[in-house]
Amino acid sequence: LICIRGLKKSFGQLEVLKDICLDVNRGQVVALIGPSGSGKSTLLRCINLLTVPDGGDVRVDAQSLAFSGKQTQLPKDKVLAGFRARTGMVFQHFNLFPHMTVLQNVMEGPLTVLRISKAEAEARATALLQKVGLAERAQMMPDQLSGGQKQRVAIARALAMQPSVMLFDEATSALDPELVGEVLQVIQSLAKDGMTMILVTHEIAFAREVADKVVFMRDGVVVEEGPPSQVIDNPQHEATRSFLGRII
Ligand code: ATP
Ligand code: MG
Repeated sequence: LICIRGLKKSFGQLEVLKDICLDVNRGQVVALIGPSGSGKSTLLRCINLLTVPDGGDVRVDAQSLAFSGKQTQLPKDKVLAGFRARTGMVFQHFNLFPHMTVLQNVMEGPLTVLRISKAEAEARATALLQKVGLAERAQMMPDQLSGGQKQRVAIARALAMQPSVMLFDEATSALDPELVGEVLQVIQSLAKDGMTMILVTHEIAFAREVADKVVFMRDGVVVEEGPPSQVIDNPQHEATRSFLGRII
């Protein structure tokens, strides 16, 4: 479903991604782990083109984009919108629209980008709020919600675009500890439904439980990848061992 080859990205002199290759199959859950500054967020942002890669190929579904050296411009709007619509992104800080109700937040993308009817958008949003356990909060404003509830709205909002893959960038790390579980539960239920996901996470126990594949990055390269039983429980590289030793 996702195929990344030779992905490169620098910010000035700093080479943040060095020749990254990554494959994600349909229905697979990939946990991306690694120290701060290793390039995890940049990699996610390159997959949905919030950041323009300097080089390499990014394919999502059947749509493939090749990047080379001097390109600083994004592809044409239509191509870009297609790419973005395939990748639902959930951030550490929910980024909900503060002046809209919960329901309107979830309806907004389908209405303005997919241009579906209001009735359909509302039906879709209502079903998704039900799914994340927030049906009864539909008419509230974001600032009336807890962090965990906001994050679940953000997940529903991303799902409303019917993406092929969901990208989570430390979706639980801004939450109070007692609110982490409810968000992880939603992610877990998406995994059960067969949603393809890439999760950047420091929740190693959760990664072991939910991920089909764990990818350990350091300094812009993939150091090792494989099933959790290998990368987490029996890491082959010293860098992986010392990272896991520090955070578990
Ligand atoms: P963390 O675990 O702290 O979130 P990360 O693995 O997600 O780290 P990135 O956010 O991808 O790391 O950042 C990798 C490096 O790229 C860091 O050194 C960061 O300072 C740098 N960087 C990221 N975005 C930019 C930017 N827009 N401009 C300049 N430097 C950037
Ligand atoms: Mg990050």
